[in-house]
Amino acid sequence: MAWLTKSRFMAGRQCAKRLWFEVNEPLEAHAADSMPLRQGRAFDEFVRALWPGRVIARGRGMPAAIAETSRVFAAGGAPVLHQAAVRHGDFAVIADVLRRDRGESQLIEVKASTSVKPEHLPDAAFQALVMRSAQVAVDRVLLGHVNNQFTLERAGEFDGLLVEADLTPQVEALLPTLGEQAVALHRVMALRAAPDVAMGPQCHLPYDCPFIERCARGAAPADLSTHRDERVRAGAVFLDRGAAAELREAPYPHSFLDFETIALAVPEVVGTRPYEQLPFQWSLHVEQASGEVSHGEYLAIEAFGDFDALASALLEVVPAQGSVFAYNAGFEARALALLARLCPAHATRLHALAARLIDLLPITRRAYYHPRMQGSWSLKAVIPTIAPDLAYGELADVRDGEGAQLAFLDLREGRVDGSRRAALTKAMLDYCRQDTWSLVQLARFLSAAA
Ligand code: SF4
Repeated sequence: MAWLTKSRFMAGRQCAKRLWFEVNEPLEAHAADSMPLRQGRAFDEFVRALWPGRVIARGRGMPAAIAETSRVFAAGGAPVLHQAAVRHGDFAVIADVLRRDRGESQLIEVKASTSVKPEHLPDAAFQALVMRSAQVAVDRVLLGHVNNQFTLERAGEFDGLLVEADLTPQVEALLPTLGEQAVALHRVMALRAAPDVAMGPQCHLPYDCPFIERCARGAAPADLSTHRDERVRAGAVFLDRGAAAELREAPYPHSFLDFETIALAVPEVVGTRPYEQLPFQWSLHVEQASGEVSHGEYLAIEAFGDFDALASALLEVVPAQGSVFAYNAGFEARALALLARLCPAHATRLHALAARLIDLLPITRRAYYHPRMQGSWSLKAVIPTIAPDLAYGELADVRDGEGAQLAFLDLREGRVDGSRRAALTKAMLDYCRQDTWSLVQLARFLSAAA
């Protein structure tokens, strides 16, 4: 019988069906990568470097890790032990850190989040339950998380990036009922068929369930009959070009701007904080009153962090006059404000550029709806309804912002080389260019004569 691990325990708390799927019918190709996973791994590595100690190897599987941990305990343990694997009966856990501090045994769960979240409590409590059941002392339970007030003042100096929050009282309060819950979830794993659970809010809380596509297959399309927007409820095409008058009045040249950014749990660039959205790429289409269009772009991989170069390149090609469009322009405004902070020499021009931003999202929201948008005004929902040839699904490798961030990290960390590196770079450029070209098409569509 499979063991109830911490990740299965947390999956089961979210949804019994999810737990059953994970054990009995796992996804063939698990979506192994995401920005939260990358940020988590980066923060784990940071903590390992911060607290040097014995590290239990994980590469040979859980039983081997449990055996190695037992040998370490039998030999007297270690002041700091990373990835200790412990089993008690049908339950097995891996603790991020076990630390001895002034005679106290501490269990430290490491999370790349910036605060303690409700789901961290049962996560840490299950580990404490299994550890104590296996006779491993746990006097205190802590959460090591990211301090988002930290600023990297000097390269490599991370004092203050990690915050330790004491979860002991909350964990102790959970423990009396946790064992029973764990036993019940372990029984779910052994059911002959998946429990009957309807889709609901639990599919996204506290995490997006990886089985959404499977559960949604054959399910009725999303019910939009109670949507707050009357046009969505009506389910018909709506177009009121009068509501886009602002577009027709906007002075030329029309610039269309999009930034791609990365949020790092462990800041790399001096002067930045954890999770600040740092630009690494931009695309700019410029349309003259004559209809002539030009394009500029910038992508920093090795040069990431040289924001002066990124801002200078943008200021060189963006017209000094006219309108600057973006979609959900608050994002571009924040990127420009951050660049102004990091590049004081360009601050005046960057602030002036931000002041010219016109947000195409609220204009589109007022002027247009198509039932295929399914109640969403995201650019990726809108564009296929007005320009089917611009479907994002047709793009290679990079089809959304997170895809661009993962590609950026793959390139920056040297995970790919040769032709794959060239292909990924091209995919990033294609994706960002498509975003601003989509804005050109959208503006033309909305401002066409009625
Ligand atoms: S998609 Fe929803 S119902 Fe299906 S397994 Fe996941 S959480 Fe459960």
